[in-house]
Amino acid sequence: MTDKIDKRALKQKYAEERDKRLRPDGKDQYIKLEGQLSYYLEDPYLPIVEREPKTDHVTVAFVGGGYAGLVTGARLVERGITDIRIIDKAGDFGGTWYWNRYPGAQCDTASMIYLPLLEETGYVPTEKYAHAPEILEHCQRIAKHYNLYRDTLFHTQVTEVRWDDDNARWHIRTNRGDDFTAQFLCMGTGPLHMPKLPGVPGIEDFEGHSFHTSRWDYDYTGGNPEGAPLEHLADKRVALIGTGATAVQCVPHLAAICDTFYVCQRTPSSVDQRANQPLDPDWFAEVATPGWQQRWMENFAINQTGGAVDVDLVDDGWTDITHRFHRNIAALPEADQSNPAKWAEAWENADMEKMEAIRARVDSVVEDTATAAKLKAWYNQLCKRPCFHDDYLEAFNQPSTTLLDTDGKGVERVTANGVVVAGVEYPVDCIIYGSGFEVGTERLSRTGFEVYGRDGLSLTDYWDAGMRSLHGLTVRNFPNAFFVQPSQAANLISNIPHNIVEAALSIATIVERALDTGSAQVEPALEAEDAWVELINSGAGLTLPNADCTPGYYNNEGQPIPEEAHSYAGYPQGAPAFFKFIHGWREAGSFEGLEFR
Ligand code: NDP
Repeated sequence: MTDKIDKRALKQKYAEERDKRLRPDGKDQYIKLEGQLSYYLEDPYLPIVEREPKTDHVTVAFVGGGYAGLVTGARLVERGITDIRIIDKAGDFGGTWYWNRYPGAQCDTASMIYLPLLEETGYVPTEKYAHAPEILEHCQRIAKHYNLYRDTLFHTQVTEVRWDDDNARWHIRTNRGDDFTAQFLCMGTGPLHMPKLPGVPGIEDFEGHSFHTSRWDYDYTGGNPEGAPLEHLADKRVALIGTGATAVQCVPHLAAICDTFYVCQRTPSSVDQRANQPLDPDWFAEVATPGWQQRWMENFAINQTGGAVDVDLVDDGWTDITHRFHRNIAALPEADQSNPAKWAEAWENADMEKMEAIRARVDSVVEDTATAAKLKAWYNQLCKRPCFHDDYLEAFNQPSTTLLDTDGKGVERVTANGVVVAGVEYPVDCIIYGSGFEVGTERLSRTGFEVYGRDGLSLTDYWDAGMRSLHGLTVRNFPNAFFVQPSQAANLISNIPHNIVEAALSIATIVERALDTGSAQVEPALEAEDAWVELINSGAGLTLPNADCTPGYYNNEGQPIPEEAHSYAGYPQGAPAFFKFIHGWREAGSFEGLEFR
């Protein structure tokens, strides 16, 4: 099929579209939700309940009640470690799935591998891609199953954590007056959780109603996260700013009901088919032999990252490029099949074929040809978060809905009455910001608290020249602390829970060992940390998506990636290799690289 593509012309088009969108302020273009704008962060879902501050001691404190806290808590409880306190800004467990209740929210990675601990909790998801209420309920199910509600601090923002070397414990302070200690401290604060607003002047001048998609105001819109129509919008004019993965999921629900609906687009997403379907419990019972979920996660990781295995258990749009790539390789003369340049070409061809198909899909669904043209994405599929939806494009056929394409420039300004695009004001009653979350900003700006290790050393200072860790999990000078995040580890972005599941197993194994051996402290040896950082740095760094890509949070908004940021790359041999390595590390039982004292 690539024979039919004019590759030179296509690359030229990609470059032109990218250049339109490059801007010198990069990620600084966005507006932080602070000061007068901090009301955008308020919890619309649950009231804050008064309570007494905590001043006691616990064995394990975990900052974050999303998947990271839940799965780590579960693995600790399985080992008999039950004195666990989970702290979260939200009013309940769920993390991302607590906050993101916008209509149509659902997982984009198959439920079977995205919902953790299915085997352990005996739960069978209802759909291949479960909707948000079901995922939130599953989070609560895990918490109940493992008795993690017992000692939680919800609606609580950690303000500082500080290591006390004399007493070998962490001091944890919060905005609710808590000042307690913990022998072990885990942090899983989520990579994308601090909402941001677009860099558009006039946001504060708007006199209508507005909110961010991660704080959906159902009181205003009517409806509910379960999918009831947003009936209060039937006589409203609404503008949605942003066309990322969130917008793609909520647009059909808004298009179906609003009197007038404007979708303000700067860069179109690539929107492949979703093909969601109910999960047949009989089929599930057949596949769910012991250990199935781990096998499925591993199989997906290999398929998604370009590896070759006989079967693709999940088999969806995430792995399609890989299959096209392998087909392209197989079609090469045998002598070329191991030539790296040919591999790169085969990958490029696979991507171009995929994106041509996605663009053709726009034409096949969207009736208005001018609108269809504007909805086409001109970049490599993995330049931006790939999206999958069966009703998004269809929404642009609704008479209520108008695409306000900004030709890469973005909404110009917000006025008291509405939004301005290309010099024209569109009056609206409500603006919904689907403008995403802080990425690549200062760590403190995203987490809201500093981590002080031995001798008052701050994590910000320790990581000033780049991240340092052993396995992305433990850090020298920060004893008994664990960081649940994907960098310097698998860095598997297509299935974040897989990274978490592995980190949780490692934490539980290490904490159990420390407790069993009466060790007061555990941290990586300096040489081990040095060697790990060196190994990470020996890889290609943060290469994908590359500089040719259209700007977005995947590539530092198209600005050069600072040298130290490359230390946030993953294991050089890729995610499946990391998972294999860390499994072996745990199984060996020698805890190589760690010092127990
Ligand atoms: P994104 O950061 O992906 O999208 C923000 C959107 O706002 C982009 O379309 C951006 O345009 C647009 N924007 C920014 N400034 C302007 C402006 N001035 N005028 C017009 N548009 C503007 O945020 P999302 O919340 O959509 O998604 C964030 C991430 O959350 C996803 O990438 C994904 O990882 C995750 N997610 C996962 C889901 C799932 O798994 N089911 C569902 C939803 C989100 P531009 O592209 O030009 O920058």
